Amino acid sequence: MTDRLKDKRALITAGAQGIGEAIARAYAAEGADVLATDINGEVLAKLNAVDGIRTQVMDATNAQEIAKLVGAEAPFDILVNCAGVVHHGSVLTCSESDWDQAFDVNVKSMFLTIRECLPGMIKQRAGSIVNISSIVAHRGLPNRFAYGATKAAVIGLTKSVAADTVGDGIRCNAICPGTVQSPSLDGRINAFDDPDAARKDFIARQPMGRLGRASEIAAVAVHLGSDESVFTSGIQINADGGMSI
Ligand code: NAD
Repeated sequence: MTDRLKDKRALITAGAQGIGEAIARAYAAEGADVLATDINGEVLAKLNAVDGIRTQVMDATNAQEIAKLVGAEAPFDILVNCAGVVHHGSVLTCSESDWDQAFDVNVKSMFLTIRECLPGMIKQRAGSIVNISSIVAHRGLPNRFAYGATKAAVIGLTKSVAADTVGDGIRCNAICPGTVQSPSLDGRINAFDDPDAARKDFIARQPMGRLGRASEIAAVAVHLGSDESVFTSGIQINADGGMSI
């Protein structure tokens, strides 16, 4: 522990597994007081054993649940928006319900949490919002139609919030990961007829020749959440194994 986030209170969505879990653990290790939320209470509960982390079940698409939690817990110094869902398919196979769900979980959730957390941040004239986008926001990848559209929207949302709050001491930035080992990635890989070949394909598209680790995305989130990045707002950091070279 090096206390890079000492005295900071952080709210994290989708903290139960993958990148969100890694961010919750890294933030706590850096001295933050972390409230990790997720829709999956069963998986989330393991984090209650970690010093510095409390958990609460929250659906990041549910405005009432968010308002209740933030009303009881605000102000936060850091908000990490990590909730996301990947739909496989092109424009020709995307259903309207897939499209709507993708935008609800990947984009609307950010609108809702930011809307609730911002007043407390503005009052204290400090706050850092970290939105998890994806490299697919910048680079078209096959069968990521709805997902790519949502993650590009996250960049626009991030810049809009940054523009509106830059005079209030608030920063809003995004992280664009490449392909990162996570439970849901395993699920996507195992859905292929030949999972071994699918894993090799995922790895092959990353110039560094391997999948990312959730802890490597968490390291960027620590930087953006901490005062080290206090002069930085409205940007995205690509942590993508070289996909954007
Ligand atoms: P994951 O997909 O394995 O887990 C996602 C978590 O989100 C789960 O714990 C799930 O319960 C939770 N969740 C889903 N809907 C929710 C909702 N409505 N409210 C609250 N929680 C909800 O984790 P991951 O693969 O690390 O992905 C995390 C984020 O990182 C997502 O936004 C994803 O799009 C993004 N991302 C992941 C990768 C990757 O390769 N893993 C790459 C780029 C971006």
